[in-house]
Amino acid sequence: MPQTKRSMDVLIVGAGLGGLATGLALQTDGHRVTIIDAAPEFGEAGAGIRIPPNSSRLLIRWGVDMENMKKSVSNRYHFIRWQDGNTIVKLPFNNIVETHGAPYYLVHRADLHQGLLTAAQKAGVTILAKKRVVKYDFDAPSATTDSGETFKADLVIGADGIKSICRPLLTGHPDVPRDTGDVAYRILIPQEKLLADPELANLISDPCTTSWCGPDAHIVGYPIRDGEMYNIVVCAKSYNETTDEVWVVKGDNSELCKRFANWEPRVQKLCALTGDFMKWRLCDLPDLDRWVHPSGKAVLLGDACHPMLPYLAQGAAQSFEDAAAIRQCLAMDLDLHASLQRYENVRKPRVSLVQAKTREHQYILHVEDGSEQKTRDEKMQHNGTENPV
Ligand code: FAD
Repeated sequence: MPQTKRSMDVLIVGAGLGGLATGLALQTDGHRVTIIDAAPEFGEAGAGIRIPPNSSRLLIRWGVDMENMKKSVSNRYHFIRWQDGNTIVKLPFNNIVETHGAPYYLVHRADLHQGLLTAAQKAGVTILAKKRVVKYDFDAPSATTDSGETFKADLVIGADGIKSICRPLLTGHPDVPRDTGDVAYRILIPQEKLLADPELANLISDPCTTSWCGPDAHIVGYPIRDGEMYNIVVCAKSYNETTDEVWVVKGDNSELCKRFANWEPRVQKLCALTGDFMKWRLCDLPDLDRWVHPSGKAVLLGDACHPMLPYLAQGAAQSFEDAAAIRQCLAMDLDLHASLQRYENVRKPRVSLVQAKTREHQYILHVEDGSEQKTRDEKMQHNGTENPV
């Protein structure tokens, strides 16, 4: 456990998963944290999220009540299948606690967000909604909202997501998120619908995760809330349905059924059980030269700093690792600037590696059938996936 040598006023902009985790980690280490967010109320999209052991271990350490959170635990297998349903590789997850030191959870995002919010509030973090930051001063650290309210602190942390306004101001680079050409469909199906079909029942009753891979798309499915719902994330080449202004659009059942009409029967059945759902444009940003403002009093984390494509379930996980690293570095016997620099130095190589792997997986998981697909399959069968837990 890090020993706190200083106690500071910390302002975090953004109460997403990364901002809340960081607020919780720093407050429990003796800092006084305020988190402000533009949203009128706190919450997360209605969809599942995988919490691999590199992140579950931190949540448990910081006192997030994972014990009582309704969740599924991935403790059987991760199947990677072709679109015809045959198995490319079956990865055992039954010994994940022994090998990685913590469980692999499958949860509803809203439950995870609420768990973090509750833990942060209990620890004493001040969390305020309806505060849209439009201006920063990084030398005399502060953030000013659209209503003219200014929040001052010793340290400002930008955790305002992929559309961050903190990032370009802090780095001086006016990066614009790049469309990767893929969209993510996020779908939840109630358990009764799967249980009614013998071919689908074990998808929900058995806590396995499954990835079906085919040209231009892959589908990840897993149970959440102790099997109350089956969560599906489809990452697929976009049909240009989003724009630079509108990243989230409605999708419907007939489109989905048509798209996956040639995939294995269980995929077709899952598509048929789907109601309306939302589709998200998947964007990326270039790697940054620096994460710390030259004043040494402001820094970035999470998607604002290193957005992560969802192909390896590591975006939130990496923001939790950021939180742990900031906490540790601030507790070192270094001045503030040197502590933040240390955080950047420690995190950058790890984050760059995970980002590079996720970008590679856009191709790996969507490769056309043929010789490259055969090579990919042989590699997967030999090495498993590259999931960097
Ligand atoms: P965000 O969640 O974007 O939070 C930013 C916050 O800042 C928001 O609350 C916003 O309201 C606020 N904000 C923005 N601008 C301002 C402003 N000007 N003033 C005040 N507040 C502001 N990761 C995993 O670890 N496992 C998974 O299984 C997984 N699956 C995914 C599936 C999909 C389809 C997608 C798209 C992502 C997935 N991820 C996953 C990634 C993960 O969701 C993100 O990396 C993570 O949520 C980022 O958290 P964040 O706190 O950095 O940013």
